[in-house]
Amino acid sequence: MDEKMKKIVSLAKRRGFVFPSSEIYGGVEALWDFGPLGTAMKENIKRAWMRRFVQRMDNVVALESAILMHPSTWKASGHVENFTDPLIECKSCHGRFRADYMMDGRFVGQGEAKEPNQCPTCGDRDFTQAKQFNLMFKTFLGPVEDVVHVTYLRPETAQGMFVDFKLVQESMRQKVPFGIAQIGKSFRNEITTGNFFFRSREFEIAELEFFCKPGEDEKWFDFWLAEWEKFFLALGLKKKNLRRYEHPKESLAHYSKRTVDIEYKFPFGWGELAGVANRTDFDLKQHGKASGTDLSYLPPARAGGAQAGRDEEAGKKYIPYVIEPTLGIERLLLALLIDAYEEVKGGRTTTTEATKEEEVVLRLGKCIAPVQVAVFPLVKNKSDLVKKAKEVYKLLQKDFACQYDEVGAIGRRYRRQDEIGTPFCVTIDFDTLKDDTVTLRDRDTMKQDRVKIADLAQQLKNRFEED
Ligand SMILES: [Zn+2]
Repeated sequence: MDEKMKKIVSLAKRRGFVFPSSEIYGGVEALWDFGPLGTAMKENIKRAWMRRFVQRMDNVVALESAILMHPSTWKASGHVENFTDPLIECKSCHGRFRADYMMDGRFVGQGEAKEPNQCPTCGDRDFTQAKQFNLMFKTFLGPVEDVVHVTYLRPETAQGMFVDFKLVQESMRQKVPFGIAQIGKSFRNEITTGNFFFRSREFEIAELEFFCKPGEDEKWFDFWLAEWEKFFLALGLKKKNLRRYEHPKESLAHYSKRTVDIEYKFPFGWGELAGVANRTDFDLKQHGKASGTDLSYLPPARAGGAQAGRDEEAGKKYIPYVIEPTLGIERLLLALLIDAYEEVKGGRTTTTEATKEEEVVLRLGKCIAPVQVAVFPLVKNKSDLVKKAKEVYKLLQKDFACQYDEVGAIGRRYRRQDEIGTPFCVTIDFDTLKDDTVTLRDRDTMKQDRVKIADLAQQLKNRFEED
């Protein structure tokens, strides 16, 4: 593993961002637990997404559909038949691999693989015939484990939005074009796993299905692709670490007219972070046919009485096209951690000679940092200082995610917060007891300002809004 990646994996575990799942049993491949800081950061990412794409948009509404769905969903959507990867097995070591990855040389340089079509585990070149392996996790509805009760853990949240299209449109009186947004758990039984939690078998995705008039789909595709990129930049990802990958026509998914991935430059190479797909009217048509429910859209007559009769759009039903921008929440979290990670050789402190060790600063966007404000008493053995610091901590807790820390030298406490990306630290010192002011320290500039306790919450709010 790449050096930088190793450091991030270690930091993530040591500071409570990400743990291997079921570690006391030796862990499970491609399953991860998000620790207290990882959970907070995920929440912040999700909130930012909801704020931007639901709250601040006039024609996008949110949905939380069930993970388990009617078994017919997955037949109609084509997932039972087509959601597969080609699987091969090494005849010597019985390792299993994706055939397309084996052929295109993706394992070259890993383990024993010196060239394409060579097993990374044992170096052999003899594989079984590729067979199609369905990536959906199979389960049963109810106590009877027979064929008619088979269903699947959803591999994407999209299908819930298609089957509820009519209910959402009518209950929310939406007119096409409009979108349905959803964040939720999805599951894929990946053959190839790895690169920390980049490829996990359980993950959260944020998806938006944007229903539009056929013929306007290409325009909306470009709109959403640009919106998605703006979101990543707004969260703080560096532009130079993002690129677009246009899927060639012949490798498009069974439902897609056009797909563009947004890739991030991970330490292990460019990897998919998000994608925008033009799903056409495929899904609504399929579900309409399979369920016998008319999922077409009837544009209403425009207001204006006699004019309405001449409205050529009114009264003509059509099946909307769907533009689907989608992103992986955990992948985005990983990219944000990598992008924000900075090592400062010899430390950043210029005022003291003592600390010349290497420092880590996580320059996360202020709105996604898991801890927003840390509160310290200058020393822990002066009871009136500690009392005052706890008061300030309680006060700030109403509005901010806070951490209280009184252990160790003040410089060390600052560095502990820098390492997890905390944008602001507040220190209560002896002057506080005289004039009710505190020191407010900025993570990035290390500038320290004297602020009145009465103004502190507002000052902090202003600084978070600047982000
Ligand atoms: Zn092998």
